[in-house]
Amino acid sequence: MIIRNVYATPLLVRNKVPYHWAHGVTYGAEVILVEVKTEDGISGYGEAIGTPSANGIKSFIDLAGQHLIGKSVFMSRSIMSECYHTLFQAHGTCSAPRFGGQILTGLEMAIWDAAGKTADRAVHELIGGKVRNKIDYFGFIQGETADELALDATRFVEQGCRVIYGKIGRGEKLDVEIVQKVRQAVGASVRLRFDPNEAWDPLMAARMIRTLSAYDIEMIEQPCSHRSLHTLRQIKENSPIAIAADQSVFNATDVYNAVTLGAADLIVLGLHEAGGVIPFIEAATVASAAGVNICIHGLHETGITTCAANHAAAVIHNLDDGNQYMNHLLSSDLISSPNLSLQNGSLPVLSGPGFGFEIDLDAVGRAAEDHRSTITGSDI
Ligand SMILES: [Mg+2]
Repeated sequence: MIIRNVYATPLLVRNKVPYHWAHGVTYGAEVILVEVKTEDGISGYGEAIGTPSANGIKSFIDLAGQHLIGKSVFMSRSIMSECYHTLFQAHGTCSAPRFGGQILTGLEMAIWDAAGKTADRAVHELIGGKVRNKIDYFGFIQGETADELALDATRFVEQGCRVIYGKIGRGEKLDVEIVQKVRQAVGASVRLRFDPNEAWDPLMAARMIRTLSAYDIEMIEQPCSHRSLHTLRQIKENSPIAIAADQSVFNATDVYNAVTLGAADLIVLGLHEAGGVIPFIEAATVASAAGVNICIHGLHETGITTCAANHAAAVIHNLDDGNQYMNHLLSSDLISSPNLSLQNGSLPVLSGPGFGFEIDLDAVGRAAEDHRSTITGSDI
């Protein structure tokens, strides 16, 4: 159970199709695989988001990873506190809860996977036990044009998804066309959610929400800049459509501020923002105290995160029924099992040991080579 080595490897996994959103086009997931190896020969795996610089993030993970050596896999909370303190407080650099969360998530995840494998238990069994047997996900439509997105929406509905989610924030005219064509394609009974990813100012948000409300939209996610919760609240107070906070909330403190201000009807949060499994559960608990649900957020990540988030989501009481997972956007994955294809819009709560996935080391090797041979930031 004692950690002997920590390894961090930058990887690139390409998307099936280019990913179009308010901030441009993304072609793949740049992640850092984190392996925690114990003296018993057990390997626990996690991943960190590799942007904006995989080499930069890796250097921080390597630095933090030194604090894992010689520690028990059953002491992740104190280990992670030590990592954060050493990197962001001990030298007077003081405060980086969001960036710190992004860096430390991969380590926290890998420790939990190793702990589960050591105990021969699923991670959700070590963190209180599951309160549900399945997790529902939305169909995340992909495409460049409104017609492509509408066609993808029909595919998800045929596969059993009851909630459809898409990106807008790509220009007023195109946004309205996307929403109109998706609604027309899926019919009246499917719930629609759209995400402008901070692209609107308050005036534009008011105008767009007024227009889009004609298409019976269930929720608009993070319409305005994350910087002001007051602006988000102002938009929410005047909106006939529910408003979700995504980039405005990274951790329990952010969630506390959002819910006490009444700035969001739904909190969108993932492991990579919060800092891992336990910080995610803490943030979810704060939202629960205010009677607000949590939707699992996804970044450009692989099946490793899908599995880890599945275990974390399994134990919280206020999980939304339209969650995000991103590995299905990838042309290949880093795990060989379990099968993460949705069945009627859902995945079962996964079994163990650990997070219950089998790492595909050949796929890891290919993704590492792809990362090495790619000029980061220029063609992904
Ligand atoms: Mg979002």
